[in-house]
This record gives sequence, C-alpha cells and structure tokens, in this order.
Amino acid sequence: MATASLRDETVDLLSRLIRVDTTNPPGNETAAAELLRDYLEQNGVSCELHARVPERANLVARLPGRGGGPTLLFLSHTDVVLADPAQWTVPPFSGEVRDGEVWGRGALDMKGQVAASAVAIASLAREGFEPSGDLIFAATADEEVGDGFGLSWLCEAHPESVRCDYAINEGGGDRMLVGDQVVYLATAAEKRTAPFTIRVRGRAGHASMPGIADNALVKAAVLIERLAAYRPEPQLGPEVEGFLRAVFGEAPVASHAVERVRPLSGPAADIVSAVLAPTFSPTMISASLKRNVIPHVCDVVVDCRLLPGQHPEHIEPMLRAVLGGDVEYELLWEEPQGGTRSRLDTPLWAAVESFVEEVEPGAKAAPMCTAGFTDSHWLRDAFGTVAYGFFPMSGEMPLDVVNSLVHSADERVPVADLEVGVRWLRHAAHAVLA
Ligand SMILES: [Zn+2]
Repeated sequence: MATASLRDETVDLLSRLIRVDTTNPPGNETAAAELLRDYLEQNGVSCELHARVPERANLVARLPGRGGGPTLLFLSHTDVVLADPAQWTVPPFSGEVRDGEVWGRGALDMKGQVAASAVAIASLAREGFEPSGDLIFAATADEEVGDGFGLSWLCEAHPESVRCDYAINEGGGDRMLVGDQVVYLATAAEKRTAPFTIRVRGRAGHASMPGIADNALVKAAVLIERLAAYRPEPQLGPEVEGFLRAVFGEAPVASHAVERVRPLSGPAADIVSAVLAPTFSPTMISASLKRNVIPHVCDVVVDCRLLPGQHPEHIEPMLRAVLGGDVEYELLWEEPQGGTRSRLDTPLWAAVESFVEEVEPGAKAAPMCTAGFTDSHWLRDAFGTVAYGFFPMSGEMPLDVVNSLVHSADERVPVADLEVGVRWLRHAAHAVLA
C-alpha cells in the first residue's frame, strides 16, 4: 500500500471528523462514532457502538485475531475542547487543508490520531492482514471532561469490548533535539494527581480592630511559604532513567539530572524536572467573603502530583514535617487519580524502538513519565494493559509550536505527521500481532 494514498485517505477522514462538532460539553460524540463506523464498515471492519446516553456513543472496531496472540488496542477520543471562532484565522470546524496542514479544533488533540488509527486498521483489513490476536480500535467519548461517558464507563459496563494486552494512546511521540541527539518520547507512566486542602482556623472579628480576632488567612500564609520553599528529594523512575540513557548513554544520579539536561534542551529539562519528585502547587484560596470581616477559616487548595506508585499516606508525614507544628491546620485529601505505570521490556516497546530506527536512523526512542494524565490509566487499572502514549511527529512543525496550539486557537496538524502516524500504527500491528 503506497503511503501517499494512505496519507490522503487520513487527511480526508480527519477533515470530515473535524467538521463534526464534538465540543465537550456537551460532546455529541455519536455523530463522530457513526461517521467512523460508516468508513470502517465500508472497509470490512466490524464495529460496535456503546453509549451510556444515546448522544454520547463510543465506537469499538475489531479485526479478529487467529487466536493465541496478544491483543492490541488503538485508543483515542473523539471529543474536543471549546473553540472561540473570533480567535481563529479559519473557522475552527472547517477541517480546511492549507499549506500542508489540516486546520481545526481537534487536529492535534486528537482527531488526527483518531483518523490515523481508523485508516491503519481499515488498510490492514483491506490487505487481508490476519493478526495473531485481536486488533481493536476504540474512539471514545468524554476524555476532556471525564464525566463517566467514555473509557472509564466502557471498562466497567463493557469490559470485553476494550480488554487488551497492549494499547497505543495519545500523550507522546514528541520529537525533541536534546544536544545533538534526536529523541522521540513515548510515555509509559503518569504521575498521580492527589489534590488536598489545608484548612486553617482562627477567630472572626471586625477588620478595623484586628487585635480582637485571630486571622486565619495570615496564619495560612506561613504554611503557603513553607510549601513553596520545599524541594523534595529527587528520584529516578525507570522512565526518566531510560530517557537519560537514551541521551547520555548512562544515567546521571537523580540530583544532577536536571542540570545535565538543561544545557542541551530547556524544554527537556523542564519535563524531567516535573517528574523527578512529587510537586505541590497551591492554586486556590478562600477566606473571608467581606473586606471588613477577618476570616475565621482559610482554605488553601494544593494541586499535588505524586510519583507513580506513591500514595498520600507515604507523603503525609513528610508534608507535615514541612508545614511545621506551630500553626494548627487540617489536611483534607481528595480521592487520588492515575499514577499507573507500564513495563518497558515488552514487544510494544520493541516496536516503538524499531519504528524510530526505521523512520529516522540514529534517533532514539526514550521513555518518559507524564506529569499530567491520560485515559491510559483506566486500561492499566482494569486489565493490567501495557499502554504507551506514542503518536510520533514528523518534526516538520517545531515542538514548541505544536504544544502552543493544543487546546488553543488555530490548532492544526502537518499532513506529514499524519503520514508518519499511520505508518507507526501499521508497524506496531505487524510487529506485535505477527
Ligand atoms: Zn486528548
């Protein structure tokens, strides 16, 4: 199959997907699922739609395996974030192709990968590819908001539709130049988001006579400063260690990692720095609702990201030591989310490496942990799936431009990236399901 025709097929499907407005909320992903089902069934791939409510369907397509082999899932989501047309150069739901790029909301996050995954499985079906285990494609609803209509619901209500040994998701594929080494990042783990509130109590009073009150806001300020000054001990997880090996040939100790990477690439150093240790970012505060009333309670909300595998109970003693014992406070944790990890000694990782070698000889695949999190954690939690975020970029559009366009105005994807993406997904299917 000529890659040029697969590229054109992907561009056409992406343009049509962008023209289906799946802004979440409200989502309306069923229209996108039906468009994909029509395309896939015309190509001989059988599809199911699963919907918790009729207008928010998830599509699952399957190329059945001969039996005995592992199962591989191409995972994606069809919903997109809001677009304000006033800020765009072209209408955000036009799907226009100009100067070698497809424009529109979702082009990068992530209808481009949806279209590439659909074309990959459709083209394999046309060629008569018989995978050893099932090749599955899921285009799910509701990733951007996460109200329980998408993959989390599928894993619970229709687990057999998405159960898989291996999965390829969004959240990786960045092509970075680190010194003179080109690396393609593949995310294999994510931090655990574990937000908490520090509640400080005092005594209310009229603000004109502060001496009669006990200002909870002022007491909280001390705790915020201590948290901001705190630098937890860095540690190398297997992903950062793998990244450092790809760049340096060996891994420096954790405490030197950022200073070694910084001169070679500022953006790479920022990524590494965010995943070496838990982070604590105070982001919201509430105290008095009236200017002239001294607050008797102050709540400070902290966005906390733990390392994969870490739990609040591991962190709390250290956190309390940092906050000190002189100001009384309560620590209120919310339910943590994410924090899962996949092994790197797998056939899917070998496929990532062999693809990078094929597409750009001399470049290296490098694992990474992501500071945010994706839908991969649902699969890892439910089925022990080995899931990586990897949709390689061609390098035609600089990485900082790509990052600035996600969830932003004038979102667009180079056609060259779509071509590399389809090649990768077909390569992975052949490598893992031979
Ligand atoms: Zn996304």
